[in-house]
Amino acid sequence: MKFETLAIHAGQERDPVYGAVMLPIYQTSTFAFKGVNQPGQFDYSRSGNPTRKALEDCIAVLENGKYGFAFSTGMAAEATALELFAPGDHLIVHDDIYGGTYRLISKIVNRRGISVDFINLRDLEALKAAIRPETKGIWTETPTNPLMNLLDLNAIADIATRKGIVTICDNTFLSPYFQRPLDLGIDMVLHSTTKYINGHSDVVGGAIVVKDESLADRVKFFQNAMGTCSSPFDCFLVLRGLKTLAPRMEYHNRNALALAHWLEAHPKVEKVLHPGLESHPQHALALKQMKGFGGTFSFKVKGGEEEAFRLLGAVKLFTLAESLGGVESLIEHPWGMTHVSMPEEARIKAGITRNLIRVSTGIEHIDDLIADLDQSLSHV
Ligand SMILES: *Cc1c(COP(=O)(O)O)cnc(C)c1O
Repeated sequence: MKFETLAIHAGQERDPVYGAVMLPIYQTSTFAFKGVNQPGQFDYSRSGNPTRKALEDCIAVLENGKYGFAFSTGMAAEATALELFAPGDHLIVHDDIYGGTYRLISKIVNRRGISVDFINLRDLEALKAAIRPETKGIWTETPTNPLMNLLDLNAIADIATRKGIVTICDNTFLSPYFQRPLDLGIDMVLHSTTKYINGHSDVVGGAIVVKDESLADRVKFFQNAMGTCSSPFDCFLVLRGLKTLAPRMEYHNRNALALAHWLEAHPKVEKVLHPGLESHPQHALALKQMKGFGGTFSFKVKGGEEEAFRLLGAVKLFTLAESLGGVESLIEHPWGMTHVSMPEEARIKAGITRNLIRVSTGIEHIDDLIADLDQSLSHV
């Protein structure tokens, strides 16, 4: 079956008791045993829960993996994934990643005797040069936030697999509808389901999907042992959001591309960073490994912080807020909001300037979105 159909049905059998069309929320901590030493399919909700299992199975199918896991947040999924690594191991991490991932790896995971190198993985020679005998993992994210740089997942997986290194990809920005890292040779896909997968800005959650059984066994053990799983109610909400992932992503993609083209032609805009534009330096790679570009991108207004603030202060339909991936359009200032925890020199080195603005394009009508940015830009 096709993606659109699977997003609605995969992992969700009809309720055998009452025939409910929607999967019930199994809001229970524990399950009755059938008899002494005879647990049923589920025994305790940290270890497993029917509502969670439906979500986990559905996401696994959509990512073309075999095993899915749902977590309380994207960071909980990441923390669980990083338990795969032990003292003495070496990790290679892309140097342009979600700020929370950077903080987790550089402030917490590194205290466990795991050495970490942050490398620009767009440079495959630099990646090869950074690999040591004790390198056990490579952490990727593409497209990156907020600069929309891309990594060649197939090329990275190729280098890693030959050396038995586990590759991980944070696929939050595109969702499996537009990019399937496992199909490109990556071992583990990770999501903040808070963003596009849930899509309605009303829950925080995370997910991991793998193909390999032994990797799945380890993730399952850590999820249960650490208690990082998602609650039945949150799983229900994410599952409900997931059903409309395909049409939502189509709309996000269409609106964002139209907005990017419109901004690129605007006299007060210096530059638009969107992988679907021919002006994007990695446009060819985007066409090769992605089926669409998603709804999030950035642009630079002509001028500096003052001009950016005038625009941000004038928006009416767009909401000035962090996060992304919901049906409503958001706008933000990476320099002073999402990326403020990055040291100033690091922001400058990466190319996050004071006139940079990030938009998470929602699924409102494009005419209204353009009208709002048009009136906001008139204040610049
Ligand atoms: C939001 C986000 C995360 C963290 O997820 P939470 O659900 O906020 O814990 C990780 N990676 C990316 C790319 C994100 O956008």
